[in-house]
Amino acid sequence: MSVSGAWRRAAGGAGLLGSDGSVRPTIFAEMSALASRTGAINLGQGFPDEDGPAEVLEAAVAAIRSGANQYPPGPGIPALRQAVAEHQHRFYGLEPDPDREVLITAGATEAIAATLLALLEPGDEVVTFEPFYDEYGAMIALAGGRHVTVPLEPPTFLPDPDRLRAAVTDRTRVILVNTPHNPTGTVFDRELLTTIVELAERHDAVIVTDEVYEHLTFGPEHIPVATLPGAQGRTVTISSGGKTFNTTGWKVGWLTAPPELVTAVLAVKQFLTYVNGAPFQPAIATGLALPDSFFSGIAAELARKRDILSAGLREAGFGVLPTDGTYFVVADAAPLGHSDAVGFCRALPELAGVVGVPLAAFCRPEYAARTASLGRFAFCKREAVLTEAAARLSALRA
Ligand code: PMP
Ligand code: GLN
Repeated sequence: MSVSGAWRRAAGGAGLLGSDGSVRPTIFAEMSALASRTGAINLGQGFPDEDGPAEVLEAAVAAIRSGANQYPPGPGIPALRQAVAEHQHRFYGLEPDPDREVLITAGATEAIAATLLALLEPGDEVVTFEPFYDEYGAMIALAGGRHVTVPLEPPTFLPDPDRLRAAVTDRTRVILVNTPHNPTGTVFDRELLTTIVELAERHDAVIVTDEVYEHLTFGPEHIPVATLPGAQGRTVTISSGGKTFNTTGWKVGWLTAPPELVTAVLAVKQFLTYVNGAPFQPAIATGLALPDSFFSGIAAELARKRDILSAGLREAGFGVLPTDGTYFVVADAAPLGHSDAVGFCRALPELAGVVGVPLAAFCRPEYAARTASLGRFAFCKREAVLTEAAARLSALRA
């Protein structure tokens, strides 16, 4: 039987379909499997190796014990929608209406998927930066859209504003932004975000902004796109509890947007998961209400970890690129004599007992050559693990 359909579009669109027609696992799953097979330290897939705040974990346990175990309401429990709205107000001065402008989703992943499925007609263009988080390519393809990219050039990983202007046209339905940016760690500045908003206004595009690393910046301030003049009426802001509260497995995400956009996304979302995470929703609400010191504390702790890993990579002979946010640092293996990061990352467990992800996994083949020798390493791990990884990597010099 010949099977075709959306799965083939998604896999092909993201370049994930193997030559035998099978779906290859995502790069993150592949690299985590490689780490567990070889016993290497997993700095590939971005997930913390420590639990987050006890209050948040206890709130989930208490919710399970008190019977929050059936379907929550479709848009999310009121307490979490309220907590998201209060969080947007406390940190950014925004005032989304928790009843009409907030939607709880199965992670940021579902928020991105449902938004693109809701907004795209076949052939509509979506502009993203490149490298891009792998889901974007797959979901644009699944929704029948056309993916147009604007390169982020190393070492600054900022786009050329003229190329950005040329990429956005009246065919553009969505400009998909990600700041702080995975995999490069770039935090988009006000000038760049302002250009994006102006282009969206000029061409009547919707801005979809993935801000899952909003609290993980080390110096430059995170500027939510929705806070810029002109943005709010056309912006879907997406985030998630996974990164902020070390609960990547809970898959509680959310989006805030004008009511008509929330309605469009909810129409799709109710047939994807309908709902998820009944006991985790109140727990994430508890997390969002933690004091400011919690949020500044996680950023400071992660900045230390970034410094440990960056120093280790540098000492091992890598070229290390600056990272201002996220869980990730980009390192160049070329100074060590490795020009192909794909092969290098596959060999790294054997060479040094560490796993990283080649930047090519976030690029289309046309662009991959520009990131050929670059790899992404996650520093959301215990300091002892990072120190051990640095020691192992120093073997590369020898
Ligand atoms: N967007 C980006 C940029 C990410 O790095 C991730 C995942 N780690 C996600 C979205 C998905 O978030 P979630 O786990 O909440 O679905
Ligand atoms: N966002 C995580 C990363 O970039 C991985 C999430 C996933 O495995 N899909 O490493």
